[in-house]
Amino acid sequence: MNKSKKERLFGDHFRQGLTEAEQALIEQVRELCREHIGPNAAAVAQEDRFSWDTFHLLARSGVLATAFPKKYGGSEARQVVRIRILEELGRTCSTAASMVTGADLSTRAIVAGASERLKEQLLPQLCTGKTQCAFALTEPGAGSDVRGIQTKVHKEGSRYVISGSKKFITRASTADWFVVIGRLTESDAKFVALIVPRDAPGLTISEDEPKLGWYGVPIASLELRDVAIANTHRLGEEGDGFNLAQDALLRARIGHAGMALGRAMGALEIASSYVVERQVSGKRLSEHQGVQWMLAEMVVQVEATRALLTLTAEKYDREAPDVALFASMVKLQATDLCMKVVTDALQLTGGRGFLKAFPLERFFRDAKLNQIGEGSSEVHKTIIGRDIVRRAVAAERHPCLKPGPLVDY
Ligand SMILES: Cc1cc2nc3c(=O)[nH]c(=O)nc-3n(C[C@H](O)[C@H](O)[C@H](O)COP(=O)(O)OP(=O)(O)OC[C@H]3O[C@@H](n4cnc5c(N)ncnc54)[C@H](O)[C@@H]3O)c2cc1C
Repeated sequence: MNKSKKERLFGDHFRQGLTEAEQALIEQVRELCREHIGPNAAAVAQEDRFSWDTFHLLARSGVLATAFPKKYGGSEARQVVRIRILEELGRTCSTAASMVTGADLSTRAIVAGASERLKEQLLPQLCTGKTQCAFALTEPGAGSDVRGIQTKVHKEGSRYVISGSKKFITRASTADWFVVIGRLTESDAKFVALIVPRDAPGLTISEDEPKLGWYGVPIASLELRDVAIANTHRLGEEGDGFNLAQDALLRARIGHAGMALGRAMGALEIASSYVVERQVSGKRLSEHQGVQWMLAEMVVQVEATRALLTLTAEKYDREAPDVALFASMVKLQATDLCMKVVTDALQLTGGRGFLKAFPLERFFRDAKLNQIGEGSSEVHKTIIGRDIVRRAVAAERHPCLKPGPLVDY
């Protein structure tokens, strides 16, 4: 199946335990990247317009549907498979990778919380790319602090009426549906998730917002002014909105880690090709120990992060209670590492790395968003730090310490 006879820089050692069908799915994505997504990635990134070609390709080939339940036409791939798919896509094209993570993020609350009737109405179309959904959580006054969202939802008979503003909404300009998270006016503590059609009276979508990277998947803002939605379009129960959003974000964090890690791997492959070819002062760049050490540090970090990502995906698949903590750890590790690796890889390629024509310029711009979206690096450090401090209070004492207060030493 693998047309390329050459081995890749990063091995497939994390594929152990995957079924033949799962391996075939990864191979299919690899082939898609080799034949279409990789060669077209630069053209896709020329303009920040929605890349319909990429979207249709991913939908046609079934890659968009990997997160969707089989019952509605998806392939319901395990996380241990999805991370490898996202690695492959992230290695070549952030646009393609973000379409797959974005399809999951924006529809997960429907999968987890919609009535059977609503699922049957929406999911088959979403999973084949006939329609699209966007996830509307962030607001002008609430980004990192998502509990601070101010979008109001109040009940009027059998309808909910929504008023508020949403910012930074990916694919707002192309989505047919929006998962909107707001607060119930009747009970301020209760969050509610509603599915809102694009043509709902009172919903206004701004022009696309120009941005630094992730071209091909534009963002825009939403204004909701007394948007009335039937209560059949509520996801989960009243009060479930926050948990549904967190459930979607958990998957998205693992997805962002996979995409960022893939980009780091791709950057390292590109830089390695350059240093083994480029002659400086009569010898190849790769013969300099300083260059080899840079490569060595990057490879070790990438492989260690792949292992952490695999562990996290396994935890997700077996519903381990600490999966959210591991998702924070791997999201932090993979996205910060990607920024560093892409920066160092660009350095290794000198002036060429700085050229628009060379892929690392795009990788460099795209790397930044993974450190910001789905909980920024600082947010994840806070989650991890709080957890370690909480557990340290009750943790088993280290055997080298003598009993009694440590200040008695
Ligand atoms: C391209 C793009 C696509 C996006 N897509 C979507 C989408 O589809 N749907 C959606 O709902 N949202 C989306 N977002 C929003 C994204 O999730 C937020 O930008 C992100 O959560 C950060 O919020 P903020 O931008 O308001 O930053 P702020 O909350 O203003 O934070 C600013 C900085 O302060 C840091 N910070 C915050 N709190 C602390 C603290 N306690 N200690 C130390 N540092 C802290 C943050 O890490 C960050 O670096 C998107 C954003 C972008 C740029």
